[in-house]
Amino acid sequence: MRLEPSHSIKKEVEKKFHQIEAGYFGEKLVDNTLLEVNYPPHSCILTDVHLKIHDHLYIQIDTLIVTKKYLLVIEVKNIIGTITFQKHSGQTIRTLDGVKTPFECPISQIKRHVQSLEQLRFPLPIFKAIVFSSNRVILEHVPMDEPIFFRKNLSSFIHQLNKKEDRIDTSQFHDLIRRIQSKQHVMLRKSLCDRWKISQESLIKGLLCKACGNILYKVSNKTWKCTKCESNDRTPITHNINDYFILVKDSLTTIECKEFFRLSSTHEAYYMLKKCNLINVNNARKSGYRRNIEVF
Ligand SMILES: [Zn+2]
Repeated sequence: MRLEPSHSIKKEVEKKFHQIEAGYFGEKLVDNTLLEVNYPPHSCILTDVHLKIHDHLYIQIDTLIVTKKYLLVIEVKNIIGTITFQKHSGQTIRTLDGVKTPFECPISQIKRHVQSLEQLRFPLPIFKAIVFSSNRVILEHVPMDEPIFFRKNLSSFIHQLNKKEDRIDTSQFHDLIRRIQSKQHVMLRKSLCDRWKISQESLIKGLLCKACGNILYKVSNKTWKCTKCESNDRTPITHNINDYFILVKDSLTTIECKEFFRLSSTHEAYYMLKKCNLINVNNARKSGYRRNIEVF
């Protein structure tokens, strides 16, 4: 973690950091599962979709699949432990290491999202799926007929949906994608530095070791070595880059990458960023790279 051990809120920041990182990881696993499915021509997977339904209603959908046959809203749950659905109270409880934590019922949450989407009157039926990304989940009292899945059986559900008839033609499909994009509302998550008023200068810079968190130094063009535990790392940027996105901001340029990770040149930063599978953002307001969102 990039705060000096003496920093007063290090523990708190670390906890939040790991939560966000686990979320990225779980969503990535589900994204990979979705990409294994064979989709009909003209399909689109949108992730982390923020939509403005009307002036007072905004929704955030983890994944939205758009085809000529259907819309599928997917809610990803990155939690572990025993999940107990209590239909009578509408509450869902997670038990982990003997500690019970109530949270918003994912079934009512996704129902609300679907009802909100219905207000936009898209010409397609809307289906829904709640997906638990981890295998370390036990589900108790799962209500019948609710679309709850483990990552592994999500693809067969989508496969069934893909057998449905087309409801719209290709030009209507493109109109629909444009309509969804026009409703997209960019909501920037506050970085942890902003949230806790930590100055960027006080963060530890450089590439850090995956094993022990100490600074890495470059031994050759392809290999980095830890100054403390001596482990080798050939692609240190791939596990260091999220530090920047979570702590500082949601996009970065080659110059910022060079400075933050103490690289020798922007040229080196460019080659390192290429390994991270990021989106190139180049528009009037922003240039640089962002965490990838799979769209095809
Ligand atoms: Zn190390």
